[in-house]
Amino acid sequence: MINWNDPRIKFALEAVQQAANLAAAIQEEMVTEALTKDDRSPVTVADFAAQAVVGSLLDKSFPGELLVGEEQAEVLRSPKERQTLERITHFVSRVIPGITPEEVCDAIDRGVDEPGDNYWTLDPIDGTKGFLRRAQYASALAYVEKGRVQLGVLGCPNLDPDLQETFGGEGSLVVARRGEGSWVTSLKKYRSGNHFTRLHVSDRTDPGQARLLRSYESSHTNSNLIEAFQAELGSRADPVRMDSQAKYALLASGKGEIYLRLLSPDRLDYREKIWDQAAGSVIVEEAGGRVTDLDGKALDFSQGRTLKYNRGICATNGIFHDRALQALRTVNA
Ligand code: AMP
Ligand code: MG
Repeated sequence: MINWNDPRIKFALEAVQQAANLAAAIQEEMVTEALTKDDRSPVTVADFAAQAVVGSLLDKSFPGELLVGEEQAEVLRSPKERQTLERITHFVSRVIPGITPEEVCDAIDRGVDEPGDNYWTLDPIDGTKGFLRRAQYASALAYVEKGRVQLGVLGCPNLDPDLQETFGGEGSLVVARRGEGSWVTSLKKYRSGNHFTRLHVSDRTDPGQARLLRSYESSHTNSNLIEAFQAELGSRADPVRMDSQAKYALLASGKGEIYLRLLSPDRLDYREKIWDQAAGSVIVEEAGGRVTDLDGKALDFSQGRTLKYNRGICATNGIFHDRALQALRTVNA
């Protein structure tokens, strides 16, 4: 059981709730039919606004602690981007009344730290392509100690507390602490003291029934190799294509058995960003699953902003892990 009164837990839950709910509001108000294909302004505004919220709340709760965030305010400080900064400030002030544009930039830049012995890491909006498609996305915050994730929180506005896809519903707030399990509650209704439900990975053992989770974006994985892997494993279930760390939440709640991040053939040198994997991986492990890279190595969060010494990700319900690694070797993933 998690100690719900622990200051880090309380901070992380509140920060992710505020960030994800603000992102959902921005999506609602800014992602319209009239968007042109290349108009990324809603995601720009939401990304910066969500990081400003978390940075500002961290400064109040843990002023001295490191934050490694995906975004930097440098571009926003130029006069050319003044209008964007004002839009961002308008949204952030719903959570932090009276905040000025300069304070918004400073709050975003709380996240410019490099990882140290202990640090927080934040993806304000993971799955930006999903955000723009009105599909899945998540706000993700984790706390890392000596290269190992100790605490992870995901806010998923378009997954309900039963971890079913529901657009414009309550959303889900998922939390795990090392040794204390993975838990979920309503993103919109969460207040300190609310009830959380414990999450468990699936207990399926038949490879024919194993459901694969994979990125929606083909360029973030290797679709041909996923098909070869599925054939090698003998899985007959339809793979689930989904954006963001929402995939980890599904795996943790038993709605899939194997989540692969294979290297895209165009980007064999790609190394995962720490904020893309930290929160989700501890949530799966604490729900009873296993998370390694494609070679079966433990994820090492002590190597800077990327998982420099890891290649891709293989996350499973635990039962399929060794078989999945074997199948990855057979198909040369
Ligand atoms: P997903 O939602 O599973 O497609 O993953 C989204 C994340 O993939 C983003 O946050 C990016 O940081 C990351 N990403 C970007 N390029 C690549 C790539 N070539 N391979 C794997 N992941 C990538
Ligand atoms: Mg991301």
